[in-house]
Amino acid sequence: MATELTIHNSLTGEKEVFKPLNAPFVGLYVCGPTVYSDVHLGNLRTFMSFDVVFRYLKYLGFKVRYVRNITDVGHLENDADEGDDKIAKKARLEQKEPMEIVQQYTNGFRRVSDQFNIIPPSIEPTATGHIIEQIEMIQRILSNGYGYAVNGSVYFDLDKFTKDHDYGQLSGRKLDELLSGQRALDSQDEKKSPNDFALWKKASEAHIMQWDSPWGKGFPGWHLECSVMSTKYLGPTFDIHGGGMDLKFPHHECEIAQSVGADGHAPVRYWMHGNMLTVNGQKMSKSLGNSFLPEELISGEHELLSRGYSPMTIRFFMLQAHYRSTLDFTNEALEAAEKGFKRLMEAMKSLKNLKAGAEGDFDVAAWKEKCLGAINDDFNTPIMIAELFDAARVINSAKGGQMSLSKKQIDEIQGNLDAFVHDILGLKDDSANGGGELDKVMEMIISLRGEAKTNKDWATADKIRDGLAEAGIVVKDGKEGAEWSLK
Ligand code: AMP
Ligand code: ZN
Repeated sequence: MATELTIHNSLTGEKEVFKPLNAPFVGLYVCGPTVYSDVHLGNLRTFMSFDVVFRYLKYLGFKVRYVRNITDVGHLENDADEGDDKIAKKARLEQKEPMEIVQQYTNGFRRVSDQFNIIPPSIEPTATGHIIEQIEMIQRILSNGYGYAVNGSVYFDLDKFTKDHDYGQLSGRKLDELLSGQRALDSQDEKKSPNDFALWKKASEAHIMQWDSPWGKGFPGWHLECSVMSTKYLGPTFDIHGGGMDLKFPHHECEIAQSVGADGHAPVRYWMHGNMLTVNGQKMSKSLGNSFLPEELISGEHELLSRGYSPMTIRFFMLQAHYRSTLDFTNEALEAAEKGFKRLMEAMKSLKNLKAGAEGDFDVAAWKEKCLGAINDDFNTPIMIAELFDAARVINSAKGGQMSLSKKQIDEIQGNLDAFVHDILGLKDDSANGGGELDKVMEMIISLRGEAKTNKDWATADKIRDGLAEAGIVVKDGKEGAEWSLK
């Protein structure tokens, strides 16, 4: 069992014990969304996986600086050399300013993140806010001889770079393999080799998002912003860089080449990549037309859904798969997740009302070790959740009278369940009469009604009960005290 945190490093393909460069500080960078459309559930899966990474590092006592960028430069479709700027295109379609589009979808992204209990990063920098730093990085690359300017654009010179440095370490792709898969340069192509990627692109008159540079008016290449913003806020070499599997190549491979080309060393110690959310085995993606928006899933308004699911059910569904495995999205899987999540929430509620008795046959410390062993093993949330169900089983036995738990056992299970479920996995009860705000308010009202009854103030007690009934809440008096439910 892993007692120290191990992380699967995409760079080496191995699980490695996590040793931060400057403990207790940890630098974490995750590629954020391009804000020209709503985030879909696939995007959300990746951000949720790294939310658990952020949460667990904090649980371990690290001081984490979490940087996740907002890509607010539209770039070109499919990161091609020609074509439309995605944000400008959307702005034209919706008859808006490009920055209005950026704001609209950034707001939407933050709203959805909140709904799914994804904690905001420590810094959320934008590409447009870092144009000067991007120009400076291009200049360092040029002065080291790894780039060339042509007709107002600047490209990274991969042929030259691979002569001096290793290339393809992350994705396992080699330059000659890439070359054989590429079309030949046509006469209009200004690049020296088809593999060279843009650091700066000359903007046409019609291109709305453009900035002055030593090479004329233009805009930065997509890969550059992450190289610049990660190292600006986390230092020249930082601990963890994450993103979806689809960003390994070319995006992250280019990030490494840029940093080595500009500053002479690799930027990242542990590269982490989350796997894809799929629909019928196919990657969920806007361009394939199989994407679900979070609100469609919550409301159930989608032709492939029989009904809606709560954000926490969806979060639980996603965390029941390991972040490096693909996860297929089906109605049946969501229904099963809903049942499982409810069972866990019910058990946590029962634990609160459990009467302590003699010490029972449940080793809380060993159970805690197993839970931590799972999450320490490259953030294995499905195994951790399986361990949580073990505790739920014990709670249910104690509730049913088949075993008893001492006060110490109950307190320890409760403290750890709170930390694992709420703090690390970021789950909370969002059922109608859940353990959230309403529960706390009801606890207070019921205790006030109890006081009124003790004082034989029947008028107040009845007034409270009738008022609640009007609000759709039924209060029943039982042997164990009053209980409430929604009508
Ligand atoms: P984008 O805005 O397309 O750059 O995507 C934002 C993040 O979502 C990136 O880290 C992508 O790798 C990730 N992503 C895109 N599609 C999926 C998917 N189907 N499943 C999981 N992650 C995805
Ligand atoms: Zn990035």
